[in-house]
Amino acid sequence: MAEEAFANDIRPIDTQWEQICGQLRTEFGATAFDSWLKPLTVGDINDGEMSICAPTAFMKNWVVAHYADRISKIWEQQNPSIKKVNFIVQTGFKDRRSVDTSLLKKISTTPTPQNIYGCNINSSSFGLVSGASLANDTVKNNAFNNAAPLNPSYTFENFVVGKTNEFAYAAARKAAEAKNVSFNPLFLYSSVGLGKTHLMQSIIWHIKQNDPNRNVIYLTAEQFVYKFVKALRYKDTQSFKEQFRSVDVLMVDDFQFMGNKGTTQEEFFHTFSSLVEEGKQVIISADKSPTDLEGIEERLKSRLVGGLVVDIMPTDFDLRMGILQKKAELMGIELPTKVAEFLAQKITSNVRELEGSLKRVAAHSQLLSGKEITLDMTQDVLKDMLRSIDRKTTIDEIQKKVAEHFNISVKELQSSRRARTVARPRQVAMYLAKQLTSRSLPEIGRKFDRDHTTVMHAVRKVEELIIEDPNLAENIEILRRTLEN
Ligand code: ADP
Ligand code: MG
Repeated sequence: MAEEAFANDIRPIDTQWEQICGQLRTEFGATAFDSWLKPLTVGDINDGEMSICAPTAFMKNWVVAHYADRISKIWEQQNPSIKKVNFIVQTGFKDRRSVDTSLLKKISTTPTPQNIYGCNINSSSFGLVSGASLANDTVKNNAFNNAAPLNPSYTFENFVVGKTNEFAYAAARKAAEAKNVSFNPLFLYSSVGLGKTHLMQSIIWHIKQNDPNRNVIYLTAEQFVYKFVKALRYKDTQSFKEQFRSVDVLMVDDFQFMGNKGTTQEEFFHTFSSLVEEGKQVIISADKSPTDLEGIEERLKSRLVGGLVVDIMPTDFDLRMGILQKKAELMGIELPTKVAEFLAQKITSNVRELEGSLKRVAAHSQLLSGKEITLDMTQDVLKDMLRSIDRKTTIDEIQKKVAEHFNISVKELQSSRRARTVARPRQVAMYLAKQLTSRSLPEIGRKFDRDHTTVMHAVRKVEELIIEDPNLAENIEILRRTLEN
């Protein structure tokens, strides 16, 4: 009887949740929904607070970081008696509304595109480390909970190929398909948001589907460093070494974060060398070519260039159109060609931003109950973003204006001359480049034929001078205003 009353009690909430799920599915797309939101269940309401339960801490953290605001908002609209939504982990399975336990089983054994949260490398035939997790500490390790999972939509099928990335795509496919390693390592590089992580993860999905016995470790360089430092601290480097050296494919994403020379790099060097010698595939991505990487030992650099080095170039218009169409199809939205053309023309810097703009427009149309996406609506929804793109200042422009202002040539500004009349304007230009663009210190440095420490020094110097020297401060202010207009 009590059981029945309980069931009657919750039915409306369940029904409401079903409705909300429908909305979330359209907003975030089927893939994201199935991976992250479908496994959630609703709990009880107490004093206007409702709980939403996730099956693992990892999932809870992910949902909180990416979907909580939206879910709370929809709940509050749907049911005014709910004042607050709490996200909790429900590991017990007593409640009849709690998760399907088979999902958890899948998580800890064989990941599928629908649910993959990092596996115990020892217990799984497809040893995948997605996060700073290895061996038996998968559950205990908090760092693992914060690590990014594999994205189920980062597959070869969803990767749009164009002139600027076809070589990288072909190389990635080859590495995924090859039983015999033909180039080692494969080194992929590009600036941010151009598809490196997408390609890396496509390789894993491919191997998982076609060759599940191949043992893959995928992690970021930061996670490698973290794991190694932890192993050192707990004097457990032996098992660290063994775990890494027993894989068939080692993939390290964002290699630029490998940290400065030292024991970690030394360890990586040995792991890397022993894998390559045994004919195991190593795949690395970074934001620069091996030769341009900073803080990496020469002997490691020279091994990194020993395989196949491939870059992904900035997209061209055709590729951006293709990507927009593909993403719209994946999101299940109708994207008029005119709107796609507009976005492809305007948002050229990287694919992540392009995708972000599409998501914003799609979400807006969804909020207005599926209102048709038009050019007017797009311009309106993206007006802040478009405004900042229109007035994006480049380093070239800064160099030109600063040179003009101080009456020297751009060549002198970029030269190695150290005379104060040239050196000071150079520092000012570096400072403004840091302030007005989103370029990194090394990128700015390159434009002046200097390294990032020089830029850092210049920025600090100018910050001091602005306080000490009102005349220079005024000059900088004038320059800033001209550049921002
Ligand atoms: P990176 O690792 O180079 O910074 P990502 O792989 O994270 O870039 O890509 C950023 C976003 O752009 C991802 O959502 C990815 O799916 C998308 N993307 C990049 N290139 C392509 C492409 N050629 N086709 C489809 N999506 C792409
Ligand atoms: Mg990446």
